[in-house]
Amino acid sequence: MSSYDVAVIGSGPGGYVAAIRCAQLGMKTAIIEKYSTLGGTCLNVGCIPSKALLDSSHHYIDAVKHFEEHGIEVPGEIKINLEKMIGRKQSVVDQTTKGINFLMDKNKIDVFEGVGSFKDATNITITKKDGKAEVIEAKNTIIATGSKPSTLPFIKLDKERIITSTEALELKEVPKHMLVIGGGVIGLELGQVYKRLGAEVTVIEYMDRIIPGMDGALSKELTKVLKKQKVKFALSHKVKSVERKGDEVVVKADNKKGEEITFTGDYCLVAVGRHAYTDGLNLEAAGVKMEERGRIAVNDHLQTNVSNIYAIGDVIKGAMLAHKAEEEGTLVAEILAGQKPHIDYNLIPGVVYTWPEVAAVGKTEEQLKESGIEYKSGQFPMRALGRSRASGDIDGFVKILADKKTDEVLGVHMIGARVADLIAEGVTAMEFRASAEDISRMSHAHPTYAEAVKEAALAATEDRALHI
Ligand code: FAD
Ligand code: NAD
Repeated sequence: MSSYDVAVIGSGPGGYVAAIRCAQLGMKTAIIEKYSTLGGTCLNVGCIPSKALLDSSHHYIDAVKHFEEHGIEVPGEIKINLEKMIGRKQSVVDQTTKGINFLMDKNKIDVFEGVGSFKDATNITITKKDGKAEVIEAKNTIIATGSKPSTLPFIKLDKERIITSTEALELKEVPKHMLVIGGGVIGLELGQVYKRLGAEVTVIEYMDRIIPGMDGALSKELTKVLKKQKVKFALSHKVKSVERKGDEVVVKADNKKGEEITFTGDYCLVAVGRHAYTDGLNLEAAGVKMEERGRIAVNDHLQTNVSNIYAIGDVIKGAMLAHKAEEEGTLVAEILAGQKPHIDYNLIPGVVYTWPEVAAVGKTEEQLKESGIEYKSGQFPMRALGRSRASGDIDGFVKILADKKTDEVLGVHMIGARVADLIAEGVTAMEFRASAEDISRMSHAHPTYAEAVKEAALAATEDRALHI
């Protein structure tokens, strides 16, 4: 029987990064993945394929809507070849997942294909597709088994017309009318893909605003821009039934007044969140305890109640984000090596890859108000930037929230072109506990979208933005 210093169960961004860091720190490491490709949700059916489709559909809508104003004339009709677009997405996924195999080889990590389940706290059975099983011994185990899409109790996902994000990445046709249940990250990103490709899209959201966890000003601006793109919204609607009738899907929901509203489309994307995935792990055999909502309970060191078993990523509490899972993978590896790493969860940024993109780090205005922290706010609109006018991406703004007395940056909230990349400046500033004035005194290249960060910082410090 092979024995290891560490076995990692699950090869998503949490698991594979944990394995690499363990190997870098000199531990003999194994990774167990039930699927034949490594990379987990993120690389196979999450971050990477969704961004590939967002990019392809962005090119398409630019060609259809914006080329002309730039003086680019395309002879003949611009058409979509959906099969080719989905095929390209798959080749991006294939290249990326193969990259993980390369990294496993490079770091001398043993890869086992099969379902990992605990025999006891130090032995793991790996059951392959053909039913054959082998057992490995591990001094320490890191559980990184991720999450699966959630649904509502009355919905029967047929995975053809009533679908989750996984099927939405593989459609064979552009829907005529896609009903999207949930105005969160998945609903808006994938909704926008199909809107650009020509579908009518209606987002049905339970709360009174989309992206409800983010700063209210971002929700408002994104709603405004998406409405301009003709996405329809039914906010404060409680979905109560979803039924397939032939090639149609009928969704019934109660609005704020309690009236029943019926929506009819040909596809329904259910995007109401994801839940921790622990099926098949046989946690009882190791004595690992769960907390509410099926997640694995961990302490501040991401250690379960069983001292040699840790858990990271979507399977534990916190934001379900690839970069959060990665930080946790690194943290556990370093703890096992005797180091004292730390994660500041307040500084994990959140991004929505619609266009305009939405990005944020730190506290929202709502959170600051709720906790009674006195703050000041500086905001700068993208439309006042030369760079935005040059590219035509004039929607959005950057908002910086700073402590009223000390000027320390407490939150950075952005919507606009390339803010998914710009948010790194906010994270860096906050990591070094910068004041808004610190940011405002740093030179920002001209013309860039990043100038909006400097201007918002000027506005927050002394209400003296230069270009507005
Ligand atoms: P996962 O990536 O879910 O990986 C878990 C792995 O464990 C899987 O491969 C699974 O097969 C394997 N596994 C499970 N049980 C066993 C077992 N018993 N034995 C062996 N293997 C097992 N996040 C972002 O930060 N940015 C984005 O842009 C983004 N876009 C997304 C788009 C979509 C459509 C979706 C669905 C998610 C997106 N996410 C994004 C979220 C991101 O994918 C997850 O937060 C991230 O993948 C979590 O990583 P993880 O390592 O915890 O788990
Ligand atoms: P989410 O939590 O972002 O959004 C779910 C939405 O559904 C919420 O707005 C919620 O109010 C709404 N909702 C819940 N129940 C409902 C009901 N009964 N009727 C109508 N609306 C309802 O979840 P998601 O969009 O499914 O994404 C799942 C996870 O994947 C998220 O945690 C997210 O962090 C991650 N993800 C991240 C990215 C990214 O980082 N860009 C992209 C995709 C997914």
